[in-house]
Amino acid sequence: AVMASEKEAALAATPSDSPTIFDKIISKEIPSTMVYEDDKVLAFRDITPQGPVHILLIPKVRDGLTGLSKAEERHIDILGRLLYTAKLVAKQEGLEEGFRIVINDGPQGCQSVYHIHVHLIGGRQMNWPPG
Ligand code: AMP
Repeated sequence: AVMASEKEAALAATPSDSPTIFDKIISKEIPSTMVYEDDKVLAFRDITPQGPVHILLIPKVRDGLTGLSKAEERHIDILGRLLYTAKLVAKQEGLEEGFRIVINDGPQGCQSVYHIHVHLIGGRQMNWPPG
């Protein structure tokens, strides 16, 4: 079924360790517009962009990190790498005036894909508080 909103998709999603659509993006089984790749991190454009620039950064290996709330000490390196890579990609995308980093967690956080991801959104003036 087509979801009317990201919130609906998030509320319909079941937090779990099952494979996600991001596995198919990593394996290139389904296409995505990649903007950055190294041995640990992949960054690609969100299919429902919330700004002129909207990129998702994910670890290539999930290793139990379905969301930030599941982080363990062994994940500290990859968490740092995701944020540092977001900075590199922001620069690459020309976001000199600023940008927004978001990590949605769980149903109330509007998480819909249970493979941790960092949203990098920019290219327009952001607002605060978020919805
Ligand atoms: P979240 O709501 O934080 O779990 O974010 C999941 C994001 O994945 C949403 O912004 C979706 O638009 C995005 N998304 C879902 N499927 C794809 C896909 N095939 N390619 C790119 N982005 C996707």
